[in-house]
Amino acid sequence: MPSEPSSATGQQQPISEDDAFLAGAVRESAVAALLPALAQVTGDMTLLRDDLRPDPSRALEPEGGLSEQQLEEMRELATAALVRYRDAGSPVAGAPSDDDLRRMMAFLFGDENVFGGNTFAGEKVDSYFGVLREELAPAGEDVRAPGWRLPEIAPGVDFCVAVVGAGMSGILAAYRLRQAGIPFVVFEKNDDVGGTWFENTYPGCRVDVPNNLYSYACAQATWSHHFSAQETLLDYFRRCADDFGVRDSIRFRTEVVSAVFDDEACTWRLQIRLPDGSDDTVEVNALVSAVGQLNRPHYPEIAGVDEFAGAAFHSARWDRSVDLRGKRVAVIGTGASAAQFIPVVAEDVAHLTVFQRTPNWLAPTPEYHDEVPAGMRWLFDRVPSYAQWYRLWLFWRMHEGLLPAARVDPEWELQHQSVSAPNELVRQLLTVYLQMEFGDRPDLLGKVVPSYPPIAKRIIRDNGVWARTLKRDNVELVTDRIERIAASGVVTVDDSDESDGGGAERRTHEADVIIYGTGFLASHFLTPMRVTGRGGVDLHERWAGDARAYLGITVPEFPNLFCLYGPNTNIVINGSIIYFSECEVRYVLESLRMLLAGGHRAMNCRKDVHDAFNERIDAENRRMAWGASSVNSWYKNEHGRVAQNWPFSLLEYWRQTLHPDPDDYELV
Ligand code: NAP
Repeated sequence: MPSEPSSATGQQQPISEDDAFLAGAVRESAVAALLPALAQVTGDMTLLRDDLRPDPSRALEPEGGLSEQQLEEMRELATAALVRYRDAGSPVAGAPSDDDLRRMMAFLFGDENVFGGNTFAGEKVDSYFGVLREELAPAGEDVRAPGWRLPEIAPGVDFCVAVVGAGMSGILAAYRLRQAGIPFVVFEKNDDVGGTWFENTYPGCRVDVPNNLYSYACAQATWSHHFSAQETLLDYFRRCADDFGVRDSIRFRTEVVSAVFDDEACTWRLQIRLPDGSDDTVEVNALVSAVGQLNRPHYPEIAGVDEFAGAAFHSARWDRSVDLRGKRVAVIGTGASAAQFIPVVAEDVAHLTVFQRTPNWLAPTPEYHDEVPAGMRWLFDRVPSYAQWYRLWLFWRMHEGLLPAARVDPEWELQHQSVSAPNELVRQLLTVYLQMEFGDRPDLLGKVVPSYPPIAKRIIRDNGVWARTLKRDNVELVTDRIERIAASGVVTVDDSDESDGGGAERRTHEADVIIYGTGFLASHFLTPMRVTGRGGVDLHERWAGDARAYLGITVPEFPNLFCLYGPNTNIVINGSIIYFSECEVRYVLESLRMLLAGGHRAMNCRKDVHDAFNERIDAENRRMAWGASSVNSWYKNEHGRVAQNWPFSLLEYWRQTLHPDPDDYELV
């Protein structure tokens, strides 16, 4: 369970522990991030020694490429600083100046990255300072909060917003609207908040982005595990909904069926389905869709699915009434969800047959299931701002992540297995990991090493559990093609058997239960809602299976409609999706400010702006491993276009969504 979000300036309990305890805690910490935190609380910038700086070019390496000798010196420095801090009575420092912040950031991330002075929109800007400052939220500030309120910018104006969905994005949107004093209502089809963390209750479900990063910048918490389990995350989002004061504005078990834009009134008329099944209508000035991308289960179109005699369910609709103990269970799919529940299910069942169509690349993550060490947690609780600096350290190390290794080098000759020299290096490293894990089982090794380039699909975190599971006596990994489902189980055909025309070997894998780990209808954005824009244009007809938006947020002819986690705002390899929601929600709020302060009633994205943006997105996605490779993935829609992913850096999304450009919109 996370503790209450910690404030960097709140009441601190004075440190009284002895030197040995402090040294032990420091030993369990990420010391590179601890030093700037200690510099912040003590004001002692000499802690940030030049010879003990992480090397920015080695950010992905464990401990940021720092040598053991450097780490040891850093630990000694940090322990001595902690001792002095304790002896001084643990005084609570004030907020650091921006200059101090720059120095501390330059220590962790390199001068060039913080002070490099890129040019953006014609202006010279610190490369990363702005985004890093927001992510750090120094001294517990809510840096992304709107600094304005409706009564101030548009006195007397009636304006109301509906948010659809109370998951991670919807809760945040509601909070920002509340801060801005804009009346709003949230419609949520489920019984509670949490979205994906409410719906996915399969055993083993946990986040695969470190939790210090996978949390709102304005509501940081102390986490018991590096990667929390689903219940912990659901609890976090529940608490955020309460702490943000938005729960009372959420109408649960209420689904938005349709939304129609009224050209005359410039309002959205929503048809909502109430908990008792009856319908009602609601009129609002703006509509924010926070319905997510991964919430409508995808059931595969396999012949005979209805013929199966046993129980069958999807991973996102886990059926707890089905007791799996002692049963023969078949799992179809081996994506991120299945890779999490298969190891847990395998422990209980008599026999587990795993049907894998495409193997995963695995990212070795030894701490995946581990608790945050007690000493580190103690430091999070007792050293103001350490949790923030640790979060920022994670952000930095993941912000570009392996993105450069995902870019296609058109000159690269081995395109079938990798897309560039850096990508090939990743392939080789990940292959070595698989060889180490499965070296003693050549029968499995041949099945688990992917043939597609790494990063063309999401890489699955692994702490050895995947190999341990597949090697179990009661588990069988089947890679033959599924031909159909029969009453008694799953029928596969061995396509490699070309012995006779049509007579390839078939096998029926008997099963009592089938679990579909087959993912989601990710490219069916905003379905099943019917959305009708200006002049009666239907959103789904307009998209025709190829959803697009400007910045993933606005769509021409659908004025005052804003999507969160909309088209092309997913990330494959870098960062946390909460970062995108924070950028998107700020853009929405700034758009509403532009609208209201300007005395406008509606804003409609210009088609040329939208089209030019999409051309750029498409061109760049084609240059990424996930766009260039033909491997199956939920990143591509039925037209083969990558409709999910953002191919650029996180910094670029931040910059593009800082403020809406009035020239991008027709203001009514
Ligand atoms: P997914 O990645 O789309 O995986 C679906 C699996 O089902 C794949 O193995 C796919 O094979 C297989 N499949 C689909 N149709 C099939 C068919 N007709 N026959 C045989 N196999 C079939 O879905 P997911 O695992 O639910 O994950 C979706 C996304 O959710 C992830 O990429 C991630 O972004 C997110 N997620 C995150 C976490 C986390 O944070 N820990 C956990 C779960 C999910 P192919 O690969 O051949 O298509």
